[in-house]
Parts: sequence; structure tokens; C-alpha cells
Amino acid sequence: MTAFPRVERVETILVDLPTIRPHVLSMATMHRQTLAIVRIYCSDGVVGVGEGTTIGGLSYGDESPEGIKLAIDTYFTPLLLGQDAGRPAQAMALLGRHVVGNHFAKCAVETALLDAQGWRVGLPVSELLGGRVRDRLPVLWTLASGDTARDIAEAEEMLSCRRHNAFKLKIGKRTIAEDVAHVAAIKRALGDRASIRVDVNQAWDETGARRGVALLAEAGADLVEQPIPRANRDGMARLAARSAIPIMADEALRGPGDAYDYASRAAADVFAVKIEQSGGLFAAKQVQAIADAAGIALYGGTMLEAGIGTAASAHVFATFPGIAFGTELFGPLLMTEEILAEPLSYGDFTLAVPTGPGLGVVLDDDKLAHFRRDGAGRTGVLVSAIEGN
Ligand SMILES: [Mg+2]
Repeated sequence: MTAFPRVERVETILVDLPTIRPHVLSMATMHRQTLAIVRIYCSDGVVGVGEGTTIGGLSYGDESPEGIKLAIDTYFTPLLLGQDAGRPAQAMALLGRHVVGNHFAKCAVETALLDAQGWRVGLPVSELLGGRVRDRLPVLWTLASGDTARDIAEAEEMLSCRRHNAFKLKIGKRTIAEDVAHVAAIKRALGDRASIRVDVNQAWDETGARRGVALLAEAGADLVEQPIPRANRDGMARLAARSAIPIMADEALRGPGDAYDYASRAAADVFAVKIEQSGGLFAAKQVQAIADAAGIALYGGTMLEAGIGTAASAHVFATFPGIAFGTELFGPLLMTEEILAEPLSYGDFTLAVPTGPGLGVVLDDDKLAHFRRDGAGRTGVLVSAIEGN
């Protein structure tokens, strides 16, 4: 006899979705996105959903969608079965004792546990995390077609339909001079109508970054994200100390430990908080708390998750007391297919944080059946979808 709801079954599904255009990053060009969807079935009939998603297979980080599925199926599930589904923190503490790292997989499972708990008690995940302080989040758009004229046209379109008025440019693949010229041309075209930020995705060395950041400041960029490799923490501190515009840490922040170290060294002016990279929703809240204590500004990052991961991120970011640089929760808009029964609502340069119980979103089972890797619409092309450089 047990009074508590137990975890009865954990299901993981790989889903391949095409992107609306090639998405050019310093380490890969994406033509599709792969999601690891997790469903946790509980003995009280409640089902929670989570998502583990990364960028470009293994080119961004050390977890891949296939690896996330394998870790959950092989190592997480035996630990989770029979656990009290009404105590997500207890289940996650159990996983934490037996599984090192695997932050993306842990985040997917924690998301599913919190979604289930939200449905169980009739509250949005944001309320389980302490309560939201806002209902809408500013959302920027990433211009990453690789073509200046096309990027300007795309930005103009986003401004005119009032979907985005802040843009992130993905640079670092070409020479610094070419990249700066690209950024400057876009800033000239958009002027004060838009905020322009850049993400170098660790592609520069420190001497190049010193020059590049100065030129980007002159070109009118408002923010430079992760210009140099995550391991060069003192280099990040030197850049932040010298730069006229804020330097943001992204890849560097793999959880609260990194956040503490970066804050201690004054190695960034802004933290990009990502729920997956942090190791889960609670871990992302800890990164936020460290930033707040250190006077570091916040930005809500994305791994280009689809609707589930984006909703989970939105619930977390809605609880931040301040989020000065907005968010980049546009993942679902980059994919040609919507996996939610009802899409997330974007408008007026913002995303509405769902208000229903749990994540406040529901999967479209037909879409999932069609686009799952072992389903009817399977593409079969995976590794060749990524053109690394
Ligand atoms: Mg980034």
C-alpha cells in the first residue's frame, strides 16, 4: 500500500524536425533539429513530458540526442521506476547521486517530473518554482543565414510583423574583418530600430577577441557572447574588464559551479542561463541566484529546443526578478513543424508564458508519430545533416 504516485514507465523518443532555413553557426550548419522527448508515466494516471535537445549533434556540447536517449533508457530509468513521482526534487537527488554530468538528460527528466507534478496539483511549473514575476518574455531572433542581404531582409520582416526587435548574429566562422563588416552593415540598415548582439561561439582566440570586440563596439553591437573558449576564464575576465560593451558567458556556464567560478573572477558582465546546460530547472535558478548576488545581468538562453523545452525555459525565466537582456526562446519558430497541439504564442516582440497546469502545453501525438525517428516520416539522414567546419 502506497499513498504516493509512483513512476511506472519512462519513454524516450527521438524526433527529427527540418529547420526553416540553414542555421549557420561557427561550429556547424544546421538543416534540422533532433529532439529527445521524454514521457514519464505515473501510477496516478498523470503523464509528464520533457525535452533534451542540443545543437549540431556533438558539435556544440558533449551530449547528443542519441546519447541523451541512451543515458535515460539505460541508466536513469532503472533508478526512477517506483520512485515517488510527487517528489521531483527527491527523484533528481537520487539521479544526482548515481549519474555524473549528463545535464541535458537530467534536465529532460526533471522537466517531465515537474510537468507531471504541475498537472497533479493544478499549478504551472513557474508556480512550483516559486512563482512568476512576469507573464511575457522579450524574445530576440537569430540571424544566421550566412548572407548579409538575406539577414537584413529577415530582420526587416521580423520588425514589421512586431515579432522581434533584437537580433543575434552568429559569427566566428569567417575572418574578423568579414564578420565585423557583416555586423556593421546590418546595424547600419536597422539603426535604432533594433538591438544587435553577436555570438562568437568560442571561435576566437584572446588576441583576436580583443580586436574583434573593440570593432564590434564601434559597429554598434550591444553585446558579445562567448567570444573565446570556455576554458579561458581569465581571458574572459580581461575582455570583460576592457570592453566598452558587455561580454556574456554562455558555453562557459555548465551549472552553478561554473557560474560561481565565473562570478568570482568577474569573467562576464552577463550570464546566458540555459536550463539544459545548467543541469535542470532548479540548477538554472541557482545560476540566476549567483548572478543576482554578483551583480551580473541575465539573459534567457536556448539550445533551440522545440515547444516542450522552450515552455520549460519560459517557466523558469518568468521567475527571474530581472532579465535585462531578454531571451532567445524562438526555437519552435526555427522549425517547419510544430509538435505542440497548440503552439506557443508569440507577439509584440515577446513570448507568452503558458498559464495552464504543468508546462501548460500538450504534445501533438500525430506529429510525434510522424516525425519520430522510427516513424513513418523518418528522414534517415542524420550525420550528413551537419556540415562541420
Ligand atoms: Mg551562445
